[in-house]
Amino acid sequence: MAEREPGQSKYIYGPVPSRRLGRSLGVDIVPAKICTLDCVYCQIGRTTQKSTVRQDFVNVEAVLSELRDKLAAGVTADYITLGGSGEPTLNSRLGELIDRIRALTAVPVALLTNGTLFDRADVRAEAGKADVVIPSLDAGDERVFRAVNRPAHDISIENVVSGLSRFRDEYEGQIWLEVFLIEGMNTSAQQIEGLKRLIARIRPDKVQLNSAVRPAAEEGIEPIGQERLAAIARQIGGACEIIGAAPVAEPGRHERRACADVLSMLKRRPCSLPDICAGLGITRHEAAKYLATLRQEGAITSERRGAVTYYFSPSHGV
Ligand code: SF4
Repeated sequence: MAEREPGQSKYIYGPVPSRRLGRSLGVDIVPAKICTLDCVYCQIGRTTQKSTVRQDFVNVEAVLSELRDKLAAGVTADYITLGGSGEPTLNSRLGELIDRIRALTAVPVALLTNGTLFDRADVRAEAGKADVVIPSLDAGDERVFRAVNRPAHDISIENVVSGLSRFRDEYEGQIWLEVFLIEGMNTSAQQIEGLKRLIARIRPDKVQLNSAVRPAAEEGIEPIGQERLAAIARQIGGACEIIGAAPVAEPGRHERRACADVLSMLKRRPCSLPDICAGLGITRHEAAKYLATLRQEGAITSERRGAVTYYFSPSHGV
């Protein structure tokens, strides 16, 4: 990672526009790319360290100091969103972080998680401190869970479903369950029926369908059209909505400037996601958001070379 300019954030990014969360100020609490899963659709690339061991990954004082600086500079947000370049519940100080963020600000806290560690009482207790918990479930059975999410050897879909179901019993805040759909992998009538049964056990406040609006870890993961998503939403029924094909919100001044920096880098040479992060000193989440905006505007395109996706500006003439 390149040296950061004074005042540049290492752990805090945004606020970035989020359809679900409005203006979301992201807090990156797990390094790239440590996760319990290795999802085929992951926008931040392949998992390099697949683990279920919770650890003290980041400097909590530095995270809080960056957040304090952002808030003192007048940055406002609808949510402070705990995520990471991996699975945030792997951070063993998650509960302490949420408590200390709450002591700094009244902005509600959202937690993005893959839900795989919720069969642990400590994870449920810590996650329960957030105002909104957004877990994911992308399969109707174990076989497809293994194919789509490629879990660590000691995780099964039953861990996820029974953990989230127990969490629902204990937690009074909002649970918004995200389902990431990939045509040909988890969209058959049988899979949707399986998902429906598992969702009934989890009892989320709402279900949100997503699909690949951003470049994925693996080739061939394409967005699903609105009509098809709407049909699946009807099949699932209840409080099920579509987020996958939503337009990226109009970027604000900060995002516009950051997009311009990414674009000027890509005009010089094609870059991978890690290249952009290193060159601009930004997190993978941040870079992925800006790339999505630029792609939607038609300013950039991408190309797979071996295991790596490169982004470039068509005016670069690749
Ligand atoms: S999508 Fe989330 S859960 Fe899946 S590999 Fe990426 S960071 Fe991990």
